[in-house]
Amino acid sequence: MDGIPNRLSYALLMHLSHSQDMDIGALGTIHFEKGWYVYVGSGTEKRIERHFRKEKKNHWHIDYFLQRAEPVRAYRYDKGECSLAKSFEGLEQLPLGASDCRCRGHLFHGTLQKIEDLVLTHGPIEELGPESRLTGK
Ligand SMILES: [Zn+2]
Repeated sequence: MDGIPNRLSYALLMHLSHSQDMDIGALGTIHFEKGWYVYVGSGTEKRIERHFRKEKKNHWHIDYFLQRAEPVRAYRYDKGECSLAKSFEGLEQLPLGASDCRCRGHLFHGTLQKIEDLVLTHGPIEELGPESRLTGK
């Protein structure tokens, strides 16, 4: 036990190698520009690990996106999912991942520099990579 509660929010950094239209389940077809994205969610470490697995059924909107985009790193925060999402609102906001809250979306598109600045400004308590935990505090 590392003492970190299971219900935490996280920001998942992802890269999309080329611009394309994607079919996002019930949302229909959405156009995504290539580049860097950050998705805000909440849940256990298992949930985060799931984002890094390719073989899975599409259940959440973000699962469709992750069939094409590469997850890079995840950062965990000791704050609510929607307040974390708000802190990324200076970036382009896409209507995914917010079907059970009032946010316009929990997926954001921006430059790597801007995303990383925001990610670090908000004080992550832990950083997770695709294979294992990279750092812990
Ligand atoms: Zn929200």
